[in-house]
Amino acid sequence: MSNQWDIVIVGAGTTGIPAAIKASERGAKVLVVDVADKVGGTLHLSSGSMSAAGSALQKKKGIDDSPEKHFQDSIEINHGTGEYDKLRLWQENSGETLDWIMSIGLEYPEDNPVIGQGHEPYSTARITTPATAGKAYAAVLETAFNKVLESGNVELRLKTRMTSLIVNADGSVGGIITESENGDREEIRASTTLLACGGYSNSDEHWKEFHNRPKRVYTYEHSKGDGIEQARKLGAKVQLADNLIMTFGGTVDIDKPDDHWIHTATFPAMRAPWEILVNNEGRRFINEEEESQDFRERTIMNQSDWSCWLVYDQGILDQAPQLFLGWDAEKIERAFASHADYCRADTLDGLAKACGIPAENLKTTVEQFNKGRVVESDPWGRKHTPAPIEKGPFYAIRHYAISVVGFGGIACDNELRVLDADGKAIPNLYAGGEMLGMGIWGNAYLGGSSVGGCLTMGRLLGEKFLTWETTAAAAAE
Ligand SMILES: Cc1cc2nc3c(=O)[nH]c(=O)nc-3n(C[C@H](O)[C@H](O)[C@H](O)COP(=O)(O)OP(=O)(O)OC[C@H]3O[C@@H](n4cnc5c(N)ncnc54)[C@H](O)[C@@H]3O)c2cc1C
Repeated sequence: MSNQWDIVIVGAGTTGIPAAIKASERGAKVLVVDVADKVGGTLHLSSGSMSAAGSALQKKKGIDDSPEKHFQDSIEINHGTGEYDKLRLWQENSGETLDWIMSIGLEYPEDNPVIGQGHEPYSTARITTPATAGKAYAAVLETAFNKVLESGNVELRLKTRMTSLIVNADGSVGGIITESENGDREEIRASTTLLACGGYSNSDEHWKEFHNRPKRVYTYEHSKGDGIEQARKLGAKVQLADNLIMTFGGTVDIDKPDDHWIHTATFPAMRAPWEILVNNEGRRFINEEEESQDFRERTIMNQSDWSCWLVYDQGILDQAPQLFLGWDAEKIERAFASHADYCRADTLDGLAKACGIPAENLKTTVEQFNKGRVVESDPWGRKHTPAPIEKGPFYAIRHYAISVVGFGGIACDNELRVLDADGKAIPNLYAGGEMLGMGIWGNAYLGGSSVGGCLTMGRLLGEKFLTWETTAAAAAE
């Protein structure tokens, strides 16, 4: 096949693969390029929770739900923020997306859908999570995609990075320039270009520019914001970074120090708290039993450095249920022996020094906690205080506000055409998924919104939004 295509899709991930499958079903000649060596994108890391309203699965289980209920729940949770037209677009089509993904082989545990507890709960059971999380979506999408590859109308080029967009003389987009892993550049002409190459969560530069913050994330290595940058060069409007909300309680993985992810059970629904949380001034700042994830997220973002310390002693270590998730004793010991975020000292003075927090404040905080539990009157209203913090050695683990997605992105209309600063569509250029910034769902994290939203955008792009001129590709045959 020549290098003239109906559609070129940048990114063989959550959004790009459904778009390619569906567009090929409509007869388009599609080229998909991805910088990675495999398809699936962020799904290989993702927890894979997806929310959908009005699905066949819900109906089968007798769950009364609708896109309207999903929308009302969402604006309650996100405090009325977000792009309502995009919320509607996703939610009015999410049930069909779930039906489709199940029709191509995805299976969920018998008790799904559930209300879910990882984020602020919806009022209705509409979250589904496969047993093997995001990888399950990657697997069924790859199988379905392989079938369309066999049709001959679709081609996939892996290890191929889109480096820029081709701009025609009239200002419309005419395709992309790619670079292969051995540095070969290629001009790929297409009637329509879809940017489905994810967000910027793994880009230090974007974290600095959009949020003036260091990157503290657990995310896909290729989420570098390439698509956002290329669209921006053509005048696309970048927006929504201010809707950033961080996830509470990531710690550094000592084996991959660039990764900040949930390695401890600090969420009370998982494990009632024994430890206390103190900020970098050595003071408590939240009732550790607080169940609202949204409140926890906002509260850590109000602390200096958006970080805090989980403090406990040997008595708690001896009695409490396991704090670490999936770390064995050897790794935990190695963390305390080697990394500055994992502190251990014989005295509270020593612990405060190791953490770099004021010793007097830490000692006062611990004393108040210990006294409060004796009279069952915790200063922060906490009820579960089974043990004091009094027996050395003392421990502290630094916890951070972290993110798995980018909240800023490029503006699109409701057919996912990329818009410039004047709100005009840039001809022949579409975008979907995290490219739009997950801030479209608002200043809160809506459970299952990213996977559900990205799959839905991809499906709709392929099914109906993407249009193309067939003449050029056909003529080049
Ligand atoms: C640890 C983790 C847990 C998560 N858990 C959940 C969850 O439970 N529920 C939920 O809703 N969301 C979750 N998310 C978020 C969700 O998985 C992502 O937002 C979503 O998968 C992103 O889809 P996408 O299509 O935008 O990007 P991707 O799926 O990442 O696809 C983009 C593709 O573009 C490629 N690419 C990038 N740049 C280029 C370039 N220049 N040229 C060519 N190719 C390029 C990438 O290699 C990638 O394959 C989680 C994310 C992470 C990291």
